[in-house]
Amino acid sequence: MNFKDLGLCPEILRSIEERGYEEPTPVQAKAIPPILEGRDMVGSAQTGTGKTAAFALPTLHRLREPGECRALALAPTRELAIQIEENFRFYGKHLGLKMALLYGGVKYGKQLEQLGNKPDIVVATPGRLLDHMGQGNLNLGKIETLILDEVDRMLDMGFIEDVTKIIQKTPRSRQTLLFSATIPDSVRRLADWALNDPAEAKIDIKITAA
Ligand code: AMP
Repeated sequence: MNFKDLGLCPEILRSIEERGYEEPTPVQAKAIPPILEGRDMVGSAQTGTGKTAAFALPTLHRLREPGECRALALAPTRELAIQIEENFRFYGKHLGLKMALLYGGVKYGKQLEQLGNKPDIVVATPGRLLDHMGQGNLNLGKIETLILDEVDRMLDMGFIEDVTKIIQKTPRSRQTLLFSATIPDSVRRLADWALNDPAEAKIDIKITAA
């Protein structure tokens, strides 16, 4: 199995080559084909399995053409949001897509500038995203792909209400990708409510990070 067999577009294959990846990790091999088909996905995979690329690559492939605010990735912490945005930016660099990165504890200036640039992809922590929405700085009405990453941690940190509010502002026709290291009942309940007939990928094999 190589990345070409997965059906990713040449611009993305080029970025993967530049990153030096030779073959998909198990979670990538399992998750990318159904996501490319447009299916919802529950992925149980920890950090270190290659899960970020498992959702970022097919999401980028499906977006390809620019268009404002069509993908949203939610993460529990600033550190994770930064990592996810870096992945989207790197893998998407030959597609000319724009990103906004939103998290709390910092001033609004740079984030407002990014939102003013009509980003294709928004990566955010829940609290700051709701602040921006409340101020009318962005609208989730055109979201095609919603990614919820590290959902077990998100719920442990008490974000269930915020996450629910955010999901309700996105179109029902969206594709939803949920990733979590563990799938306790609380995560399963959220998945049952927010996802539609999801494909499942359960992976516990870590790769040695480059
Ligand atoms: P993640 O689980 O997304 O945090 O990724 C863990 C690490 O694996 C990161 O350093 C990635 O750059 C790296 N990685 C992701 N996909 C691959 C791959 N197909 N081959 C080698 N390394 C990868």
